[in-house]
Amino acid sequence: MIRARALIKDFPGPLRAVDGLSFDVAPGEIYGLLGPNGAGKTTAMSSGPTLCSIASGCSVVAERGAHLMLFTSEHDLFRRTVRDFFAREINPRVDEWEAAHQFPAHEVLPTMAALGLLGLEYDPADGGQGADHWYTVIFGEELGRIPCGGVPMAIAVHTDMATPSLARFGSPELKERYLAPAMRGEMVAAVAVTEPDAGSDVAAIKTRAVRDGDQWVINGSKLYITNGVQADWLCLLVRTSAEGGYRGMSQVIFPTSTPGFAVSRALRKLGNHSSDTAELSFVDARVPVTNTVGGVGRGFQQQMQQFQNERLIASYMAVGQCAFALERTIDYARQRRAFGKPLVEHQWVQYHLAELSAEVDLLRQYNYAAAEAYIAGLDATRQATVAKLTAGRLVRKVADTCLQFHGGIGYMDETWTSRFFRDSRLLSIGGGVDEVMLSVLARLDGIVAD
Ligand SMILES: Cc1cc2nc3c(=O)[nH]c(=O)nc-3n(C[C@H](O)[C@H](O)[C@H](O)COP(=O)(O)OP(=O)(O)OC[C@H]3O[C@@H](n4cnc5c(N)ncnc54)[C@H](O)[C@@H]3O)c2cc1C
Repeated sequence: MIRARALIKDFPGPLRAVDGLSFDVAPGEIYGLLGPNGAGKTTAMSSGPTLCSIASGCSVVAERGAHLMLFTSEHDLFRRTVRDFFAREINPRVDEWEAAHQFPAHEVLPTMAALGLLGLEYDPADGGQGADHWYTVIFGEELGRIPCGGVPMAIAVHTDMATPSLARFGSPELKERYLAPAMRGEMVAAVAVTEPDAGSDVAAIKTRAVRDGDQWVINGSKLYITNGVQADWLCLLVRTSAEGGYRGMSQVIFPTSTPGFAVSRALRKLGNHSSDTAELSFVDARVPVTNTVGGVGRGFQQQMQQFQNERLIASYMAVGQCAFALERTIDYARQRRAFGKPLVEHQWVQYHLAELSAEVDLLRQYNYAAAEAYIAGLDATRQATVAKLTAGRLVRKVADTCLQFHGGIGYMDETWTSRFFRDSRLLSIGGGVDEVMLSVLARLDGIVAD
């Protein structure tokens, strides 16, 4: 744990409980944090009641109107470490893994674990790193810069989509047995919610767990499960009572070595080729009732909370994807000439790229606001929903424009743009389709009654 050296100066308002590590910010107040040596790089904002952490070497200056960016030199170092690791260990092998329609999760995850890249926010007692959520933001943005969608998605499923419920609600024994090995990279995790007849409508799932003594007997099937072929365990959403709708569901940690479990099909997809996607079947598969995560019957609510992590990391990744794609397209437009001048000298091209770059900035800043709400322990459902919806649409727009500005070569498989175009389509579907995001917002905003 880094001790803070927080210096509060010129404080004009209701700052309380300064203990060197954190302080309360009153509703509506906005503060800026200056970075080490007053570099002005690290700033923080609050628009609601929240607790801000002050990291090492920051001096705190009340600076109304500042925006949120609590990245310290430690965060910057972490970003460089992650980017270097991906450049060295992942990026050179992406083409091979795309062609194989699978990346070797059991080989890659341990190397990430050795660098402390798995379980960033989880308790060290559970195999995590005990880091703050800004590390997850950075991790997501850097995952987005891997030159494909499949590997980052598969890694993010392991780190931020299949494991948050277990970390949040799991018993110590369950965490020791499944979370800690996953964070050491020894076990691969997947999250299994979707079924052939239940995708957007999670309340329609039919996979059933019937109690027999101290065991659940599970029957049913799951569809489109990322990491499903390679997973050692699933965070499985099942019905554990006859109540219908949102009631009577539970999350169960399901080891894939369980008799009665099978990968029925490895599915071929439009894009994200390097992540495996499976249909799974369960026939009288028995797991201990103690494998239930949190409360029996609380599965739907817990999964909805887990979806928040999924939507946030997806949105952080989208910023990295878009920024990297625009950088590469700007480079290309500087080199490629048409009508006697570089493409980038054509006003339409410049303006279009500038506009997209501005939109990426907006999403990035929105993500940071969402992250802050999450860090403050507020219900970040609305922020995660807006972020995911916006990210899904923006990444498609950026992919389309990047391909367009590359012309014919952009349509060729040999150019990164064609993969990006295919991969980008998923974000408006996976983790909740755009229409579901809109229906959540319509309810949250009171446009329709709950
Ligand atoms: C590559 C990939 C990886 C995936 N990984 C996982 C995973 O790891 N784990 C997992 O559990 N699931 C996973 N999924 C499943 C994904 O979450 C679902 O595909 C998604 O939630 C949509 O469900 P569906 O495909 O059944 O579409 P449906 O629910 O059948 O919806 C079809 C279409 O109907 C429209 N629609 C749906 N609801 C509404 C509404 N309320 N109002 C208006 N229109 C609506 C939308 O246009 C939608 O696209 C993955 C999917 C893909 C493609």
